[in-house]
Amino acid sequence: MITLTIDGRPVTVEEGTTLLAAAQRLGIRIPTLCHVPGIEPASSCFVCAVQIDGRRNLSPACSMPAAEGMVVATDSPSVRAARRIALELLLSDHAGECVAPCAVRCPAGLDIPGFVYGIATGDNGRAMEVIRERLALPGSLGRICPRLCEQECRRCDLDQGLAIDALHRYAADVAGQAAPPAQPATGKSVAIVGAGPAGLAAAWFLLQHGHECTLFDAHPLPGGMLRYGIPAYRLPKDALDAEIAAIRELGATFRMNQRWGENFSLAGLRERYGAVFLAIGAQRAQALRCEGEEHAIPGVEFLERAATGNPPPLGAGVVVVGGGNTAVDCARSALRLGVRNVRILYRRGRQEMPCLMDEVDAAEAEGIHLDLRAAPVRLERNGGGILLTCRRMALGEPDASGRPRPVEVAGSDFTIACSTVISAIGQAVESALAESEGLRVTGHGIAAGERTMATNLPGVFAGGDAVLGADLAVRAVAAGRLAAVSIHQYLSGQPVTGEPALAGMAMRPVDESELAAIFRSIEKAARTPMPSISMERRRTTFAEVETGLRAEDAACEARRCLTCGCRKADCCLVRSLAGEYEADAYRFAGARRRFSQDLSHPEVIYEPGKCIHCEACVRIAAAAGEEVGLSTIGRGFDVRVAPPFGATLAEGLRKAWRRAADACPTGALALRTARSCDVCSLARAD
Ligand SMILES: Cc1cc2nc3c(=O)[nH]c(=O)nc-3n(C[C@H](O)[C@H](O)[C@H](O)COP(=O)(O)OP(=O)(O)OC[C@H]3O[C@@H](n4cnc5c(N)ncnc54)[C@H](O)[C@@H]3O)c2cc1C
Ligand code: SF4
Ligand code: SF4
Ligand code: SF4
Repeated sequence: MITLTIDGRPVTVEEGTTLLAAAQRLGIRIPTLCHVPGIEPASSCFVCAVQIDGRRNLSPACSMPAAEGMVVATDSPSVRAARRIALELLLSDHAGECVAPCAVRCPAGLDIPGFVYGIATGDNGRAMEVIRERLALPGSLGRICPRLCEQECRRCDLDQGLAIDALHRYAADVAGQAAPPAQPATGKSVAIVGAGPAGLAAAWFLLQHGHECTLFDAHPLPGGMLRYGIPAYRLPKDALDAEIAAIRELGATFRMNQRWGENFSLAGLRERYGAVFLAIGAQRAQALRCEGEEHAIPGVEFLERAATGNPPPLGAGVVVVGGGNTAVDCARSALRLGVRNVRILYRRGRQEMPCLMDEVDAAEAEGIHLDLRAAPVRLERNGGGILLTCRRMALGEPDASGRPRPVEVAGSDFTIACSTVISAIGQAVESALAESEGLRVTGHGIAAGERTMATNLPGVFAGGDAVLGADLAVRAVAAGRLAAVSIHQYLSGQPVTGEPALAGMAMRPVDESELAAIFRSIEKAARTPMPSISMERRRTTFAEVETGLRAEDAACEARRCLTCGCRKADCCLVRSLAGEYEADAYRFAGARRRFSQDLSHPEVIYEPGKCIHCEACVRIAAAAGEEVGLSTIGRGFDVRVAPPFGATLAEGLRKAWRRAADACPTGALALRTARSCDVCSLARAD
């Protein structure tokens, strides 16, 4: 037996024991990429480097035998630096991306290929399991999200982007947002002010942690702008109600008709609850800032009255001022309320309208007229109606928003006689209320940490439109989840750091040869169209315009997904160690390998650009007695792991394919059926 000291602790082991195994006896974890238990060490990754007293260089723990009296340090600054450099070198030549480009762009970070795979294989329950890990309200978002993800869908380079929103709407409508089993009650409580998407999302995730959640809201019903702003023809309220019901089922308490500043104070909530999340949105309509502005109806007020069955009388001709979602929703709602002459007045061009372009197209198709590059100057009462004086605008240099600045054209005034003017030029946050309770504010809203959502008051967090100013529902939902992470940390007595940032590789730019490799054997297939109701019904009722994908169409659309991103993103050792050692993936950026795929094996996919030459698969194939097996071939920069003598992967891995794929520390060798989430949950089950 041999006695040595590791990190200041003595341990006695049998002769021949490696330092890696000796450290394991003490419960000390030494990271390694290439080590496979029970198989000869390769010492190729050098991530298991440790410092042995008296030696100038670091030594690989996986192959170094323990010796009597050895003194070993496994986590000194020089050891950490060496590991970080080893990882940075591996990443410098990595051809592949951890997260699919669509998922990188989704503000909620939804695992898109993961959930889409569930639908493609007919397992909607599985799809919902993946969805609910990141996204509250997937059915509602599936109807109204501007689909930032789709702009990055790789299929856009082949034919058309995947209908991702329609797919998570489908999964939510079919499988329902059933609440997952919650953790045992923690006895901690959170007050959430505002039951819009941000507040609801925070509750959804906090309740799963076992914390009690009480939502206070000034309105009679929860949902925020999803209920009182966005009209039913885009988001039917029963779809929203079903998602809120799941949050209620999980244990949320709703205290409606309770207004912060009138019925309760923040100071009072801080005394009664363990933490507070402020999600009051941006609900105050901005005035037109022109003479006679008081004659216009604020857009959000009009929409709320329309949504609650109490629309104001509109008359025969309505002008809506603004170019965002609120403006277009006001115009399309006015049309559905029977006004036949509806026009939108916007000071920039069509392209610059901040509204979703699909909505602008839909408004025009329904007969709404766009009056572009024109702004209101004056509103005057004119008998029973309004005389609106407008001025033409030219487009000047880009302003702070990046859009061309509207410049008044002298002498271009014209008038429009109408019955109603609706002002929909934006909404603002009630910052004064927040300030009066000691919160710091910014030009947009309440000041909160970008990752932590923490405000300047201990235990008080804020997110969604309340922080960003009027924005998007998906960003509000994402903020709610991030706030839940931080609030959970706060309530559990941990430092509030927010969700840890994951290291990640992205291939940039993706060149022609790589696209060809990605699209190899993929046939062009048009995006499945979303069915919709007739134009007659659209113009005259608030029935939902888009009726949702049918089961066979959803499966067909899901099968268009190319599964970009890595099949092992959540269990790749290089990625997790890169995070742990704060490796900069682009520190040694330069020429990298090209992305390619070997699809010749029926069970596994090989992506050589992700191979780190650890030879785990080579050793596993040899140990399994594979006839052909794998070996390291080529020299210098051309070195690669492949079956020898031009054999195919199917020939090289006849028996050991599963073990090789499981042992591969990256996504280079992965089961065809693996998706990051599957692998991850398997790892958790272990
Ligand atoms: C007409 C319209 C159309 C839109 N269309 C889209 C779209 O198509 N796609 C998209 O992604 N986004 C859209 N948005 C934006 C989206 O609705 C918002 O970004 C999102 O609702 C913000 O969520 P939130 O939870 O932060 O705030 P909100 O949804 O505004 O919810 C805030 C909640 O706080 C409550 N509250 C406010 N003040 C108090 C107080 N003092 N005390 C108690 N409760 C209070 C309110 O009653 C409300 O329920 C649209 C917005 C509008 C107005
Ligand atoms: S929430 Fe929006 S951005 Fe995210 S996946 Fe769905 S459609 Fe795409
Ligand atoms: S093909 Fe699928 S995984 Fe790839 S970018 Fe599009 S939706 Fe995402
Ligand atoms: S493919 Fe083989 S050699 Fe390459 S990283 Fe995976 S296990 Fe290691």
